[in-house]
Amino acid sequence: MKTIRTVAELRAELLAPRRAGRRIGLVPTMGAFHEGHLSLMRRARRDCDVVVVSLFVNPAQFNDAGDLDAYPRDPERDAELATEIGVDYVFAPLVDEVYPSGFATTVSVAGLTDTLEGAHRGRAHFDGVTTVVTKLLNMVAPDVAYFGQKDAQQAAVIRRLVRDLDIPVAIEVCPTVREADGLAMSSRNMHLSPEDRARATALHRALRAAADAVNAGERDPCTARELALAELARADIEPDYVELVSADTLVPVRRITGDVLAVLAARVGGTRLIDNQPIQPPPEAGSNGNGRR
Ligand code: AMP
Repeated sequence: MKTIRTVAELRAELLAPRRAGRRIGLVPTMGAFHEGHLSLMRRARRDCDVVVVSLFVNPAQFNDAGDLDAYPRDPERDAELATEIGVDYVFAPLVDEVYPSGFATTVSVAGLTDTLEGAHRGRAHFDGVTTVVTKLLNMVAPDVAYFGQKDAQQAAVIRRLVRDLDIPVAIEVCPTVREADGLAMSSRNMHLSPEDRARATALHRALRAAADAVNAGERDPCTARELALAELARADIEPDYVELVSADTLVPVRRITGDVLAVLAARVGGTRLIDNQPIQPPPEAGSNGNGRR
């Protein structure tokens, strides 16, 4: 595994494999690796000839300077874990390499970024994400880039970005990796006190309560949402939002007629956590092709 700091060096390294038609995979990360990150790297290792993991804590996507300062960083351990998985390159540029003086361009995706995380963290958050991901895709020019379902809105926004700007890359979204008790893995979990760590399991229970109701036939999103809210209230958690949204548009659904995504965000102690659960409800009685028409 080789650590690379500059775009020039990265391009020089990738020139020969690219010319030889090798499949290049990119896993963009902000480091402090956990099993969620590692699952993306393993998937890239299986699918691709050359695996590049980018490690860059992107200041542009933090809406709070304190949050940026407190973001966990452990580059030595990250390098060891990437080596164990067989990653070829960790691309870990300094901030000046990504945003040299005079940097003046923003890539912005409209619509999808207005709701949920966009509404709560402000426009600058997703603008920061889409700008840095566009840059990383241009720097690495991978055949495939891997993202986690954990950040479902981010994945939807990036699919749209790549489609709208004709960026020649396949986007693969990999399942959320969870702790044994259901808590979605996140670099931020290490900030939770033991009590808050226990309370945080309510996030997954809330999403499961909504999913179980829909799978049992509930078609009113308000009822499913109330069940999720009740689960959070039992753990004394007041969410930023809990919604059942269309998996494509991220717009809250008025009735559940197909695949939806239960999404939520909440502060547990001082730590803001997000999670989601894709729900594929069984077809309603009479709509399975056997029934009356
Ligand atoms: P981050 O370092 O938090 O920016 O995450 C880097 C990538 O890992 C993003 O595509 C995330 O969606 C993904 N990721 C983070 N947590 C998980 C998880 N628990 N399961 C699967 N993917 C994850």
